[in-house]
Amino acid sequence: MTDKLEKAEKREKMEKGRRLALVTGAGRGIGRAIALKLGEKGLDVAVNYNNSAAGAVELCRELSALGVSAKAFKADVSKAGDVSALFKSVEESMGTVQVLVNNAGITRDNLLMRMKEEEWTDVIAANLNSAFYCTKEAIRGMVKSRWGRVVCIASVVGLVGNPGQANYCATKAGLVGFAKSAAREYAAKGVTVNVVAPGFIETDMTGALKENLRSAMLQQIPAGRMGSPEDVARAVAFFASDESEYVTGQVLAVDGGMTMC
Ligand code: NAP
Repeated sequence: MTDKLEKAEKREKMEKGRRLALVTGAGRGIGRAIALKLGEKGLDVAVNYNNSAAGAVELCRELSALGVSAKAFKADVSKAGDVSALFKSVEESMGTVQVLVNNAGITRDNLLMRMKEEEWTDVIAANLNSAFYCTKEAIRGMVKSRWGRVVCIASVVGLVGNPGQANYCATKAGLVGFAKSAAREYAAKGVTVNVVAPGFIETDMTGALKENLRSAMLQQIPAGRMGSPEDVARAVAFFASDESEYVTGQVLAVDGGMTMC
């Protein structure tokens, strides 16, 4: 067999064995770092975005340069209709999703006494309903192929609470219960469902915080620094891999030791 033929065969084998990940809200922030890390690990990536079109296109370019397939898909994952259209497009153009990362999330902070109903419902829709819609779409294919990984991005404040974030914390705590229930339902089918709970991570979400709040938060972090999106991405990559085969229904805090609960 010639070198050329051998190489082509190897490439074909590699491509056949290559897994497809879908990362929601991957146009920027933590989602972007997760998508890049999964690409570095050799996974093809479906990049979901809602408003960050330019970020998603640039990310696909960076992923392609790593030698994996990547495509950007616009969808508001807080809407059931958008999510079913998203999965249809991904399936048609890239194949079955084997790794799902429920990352998309928003904050609408307010003290409970002042919290408007839409501040509650918007956050529930974007952070929690989205995970239900996406996981429900993805799980059938995972069960069918007897291999799948679902990773939900929660937050340590979902475990310990935070004043001004009753809506946000409710969704993040909700994700934990959701993931543990799904983990129990599908553990015997080769599908794991785990949670990564970031602490205080340097992104647009925390960029808006006032300096005094930021230094108060920093004092509570034994590691002495804010986390980076890459810190979170490395934990997600573990849950997305074969290495975590016997780990399901777990919550891993990536918080520099801030909570230890
Ligand atoms: P970010 O910089 O504000 O980015 C939020 C991401 O979510 C964006 O990519 C955004 O997409 C996407 N998104 C929001 N609503 C969406 C929707 N309806 N449909 C599709 N995408 C949507 O936030 P981040 O810090 O990267 O946060 C990512 C995740 O980590 C969130 O779930 C957040 O709660 C969690 N987290 C963050 C921290 C932290 O300290 N930063 C700590 C704990 C947990 P577009 O820009 O395309 O609209």
